[in-house]
Amino acid sequence: MHIQSQNRLLLGPGPSSVSPEVLKAMSTPLVGHLDPYFLEVMSDMQNMLRQTFQTKNELTLAMSGTGSAGMETVFVNLVEPGDKVLIGICGVFGERMKDVAQRCGADVLTVEAQWGTAIQPEQVEQVLKSTSSIKAVALVHAETSTGVRQPLQEISRIVHNYGALFIVDTVTSLGGIPVEVDKMQIDACYSGTQKCLSAPPGLSPVTLSSAALNVVKTRKQKVQSWYLDLNMIANYWGEERFYHHTAPISMIFSLHEALRLLLDEGLENSFARHARNGQLLQSELEAMGLTLFAQEGYRLPELTSVVFPEEYKEGELRRRLLHEYGIEVGGGLGPLKDKAWRIGLMGHSSTLSNVTLLVQAMKNLLH
Ligand code: PLP
Repeated sequence: MHIQSQNRLLLGPGPSSVSPEVLKAMSTPLVGHLDPYFLEVMSDMQNMLRQTFQTKNELTLAMSGTGSAGMETVFVNLVEPGDKVLIGICGVFGERMKDVAQRCGADVLTVEAQWGTAIQPEQVEQVLKSTSSIKAVALVHAETSTGVRQPLQEISRIVHNYGALFIVDTVTSLGGIPVEVDKMQIDACYSGTQKCLSAPPGLSPVTLSSAALNVVKTRKQKVQSWYLDLNMIANYWGEERFYHHTAPISMIFSLHEALRLLLDEGLENSFARHARNGQLLQSELEAMGLTLFAQEGYRLPELTSVVFPEEYKEGELRRRLLHEYGIEVGGGLGPLKDKAWRIGLMGHSSTLSNVTLLVQAMKNLLH
């Protein structure tokens, strides 16, 4: 079989469409992973990641692997067996955090909110007040299974009042809505390349505050995962440049180009573009008589979950959208299975023309 390019517009929950510049950067001829030129590209990319995460954190790098590798990196490095960790769950990715933390041997406590809503600060405070020595509190900033935007500021204040670390999943938020790591006092944060950064899946940007880094450096036990051990990986990305594993060179070229394009546009312009196109799509969907799943006031512009009336077969509509129009969207997860679509307007995919095309295709399919 020969690989053939398919004409697809990616408007699902990820991956998003990638610009030709990023694809071109990916096909740059290889250099060695210790080549001085490549080390320069890595350092430049770290600087761009710091700007994108809005942080001065020294430990800011891209882990090899998708967003889930970033999630594992954060938990496996910060958590030791028996540590208490509080996780907010209101969708699939909060559940995944719980699973990952439990595999690290954490004593996991949870606060939950109904799917389609966000975790409230009082819920977090109640657990921190009644349980001593919680080491970290973790939340998902943009819950891709529901389309909910989790407010962070007040919860961050509470978490730090109780002396815990604040962990945030920004896989679907970075580049699409503000991720202000320093201002929000986020201690550990991970993301993914294939959403609003619009590079192919394969790297996970990660950043750690000095407090979090200190926890990693003063662990009682070795990090359980050799591959994800930040103590060793930081030596490759830092001054020493010690070989740890062979860097995925082409992916780093592609992320470098994606970040360059994002910062060229300007973060604020990118947030405004995502907000504009998301709002337009959401108002068009409501005008079609469909129901937006995420609670009003907490809706993400880059990921919209929309529920169909019972008489529609969403799976059939989704297949027709792909085959007749070349547009990919995602199906619902959990309680939304067979009932909803998840529509992404992320990064390079978030344009007025894509919204217009999708809305017209949906009108054709629904009537
Ligand atoms: N966290 C969130 C919020 C996500 O949306 C995803 C993927 O959709 C992940 C984590 C996992 O990322 P990946 O599928 O790239 O491993």
